[in-house]
Amino acid sequence: MSRVAVIGAGLAGLVVAQGLVDRAQVRVFEKSRGYSGRMATRRRADYQFDHGAQFFTAKSGSFREFLEPWLAAGVVARWDARFVEIEDGCITSRRTWDDEYPHYTGVPGMNALGRALGETLDVALETRVASILGEPGDWLLQDENGTELGRFDWVVSAIPAAQAAALLPREFEHHAQVSARDMPGCYSLMLAFDQALDLAWDAALVKDPVISWISVDSSKPGRPGGYRLLVHASNRWAEANMELADDAVIAALIEPTAKTTGVDVGVAAHVGLHRWRYANPGPRTGEPALVDAPNRLAAIGDWCIRGRIEAAFHSGRGAAERILPLL
Ligand SMILES: Cc1cc2nc3c(=O)[nH]c(=O)nc-3n(C[C@H](O)[C@H](O)[C@H](O)COP(=O)(O)OP(=O)(O)OC[C@H]3O[C@@H](n4cnc5c(N)ncnc54)[C@H](O)[C@@H]3O)c2cc1C
Repeated sequence: MSRVAVIGAGLAGLVVAQGLVDRAQVRVFEKSRGYSGRMATRRRADYQFDHGAQFFTAKSGSFREFLEPWLAAGVVARWDARFVEIEDGCITSRRTWDDEYPHYTGVPGMNALGRALGETLDVALETRVASILGEPGDWLLQDENGTELGRFDWVVSAIPAAQAAALLPREFEHHAQVSARDMPGCYSLMLAFDQALDLAWDAALVKDPVISWISVDSSKPGRPGGYRLLVHASNRWAEANMELADDAVIAALIEPTAKTTGVDVGVAAHVGLHRWRYANPGPRTGEPALVDAPNRLAAIGDWCIRGRIEAAFHSGRGAAERILPLL
């Protein structure tokens, strides 16, 4: 059986691994402690937040079909949020998400889907692949200490484009395309309150130079009690302020959050911040997975298509379809 290494246990990596596992010996390497990548959930003491992706939609039949068993198992659920758009503190549009165009989330946290998939696969967590040495058909992976992680016929990189460009051997046929891909950053501000706030919505798209999104994270299905807000910076502001100290970022995000909600959010019982260096790639046309058959290398991820969970699925699925006949 061919040996395949998949680098990254986000949705794209898990989907390609799942697609190849019946025909190859597949090992997934993930640098974090958990599965799911940017479909992220953070738990600290009494608080839980989805600090990466907020929800996802399923436009294609194949993604809807993929989701069916996870919906039936309660790993994924619909989030029928009261959704608004807000500008200068005023609500400019309002609707409730429903079955006409369903929005989904993982349960009890956004990372549930990745965890459920990951637990069926051979995944080495807390293992960062730092180098790919050797040659096609005999790639040698090492971690940052130079420890050997194994030899593989194929290597599939399922990590953000900039990191893939640094890791993949120069002979990778699509190296220039990977290097050219931009993934603007983002900040997530996490706020927990002792008492519920008086907001008439669950999710808000915010037109503001500094912030772009606020959700009542605790309003999602199957969440623990309490009242929690999750705020995203705009990509443009985050990119311009990526090196700012945490305290300064928090202060900068709290002000427009207070203006948008009309509430003194500075009274939060818990304030947390996460810096996403690579967050939301814009749309790209072309192959959903960059496969180099002679070199037995591939680069996949949402960034092959656009910064959406459904795109990560299609990139992983597309890679499996391309690689299967080559094994
Ligand atoms: C703030 C934010 C908000 C978002 N909001 C939404 C939204 O509302 N709806 C939506 O559809 N999408 C949203 N997205 C995008 C969505 O999260 C992504 O499209 C999707 O999760 C990408 O999956 P992926 O598998 O391509 O990559 P990732 O999820 O980034 O997975 C890559 C994995 O590789 C690991 N890794 C990296 N380098 C190495 C290495 N050297 N060795 C081992 N492991 C490594 C990482 O730890 C990570 O787990 C959002 C993203 C962010 C950051």
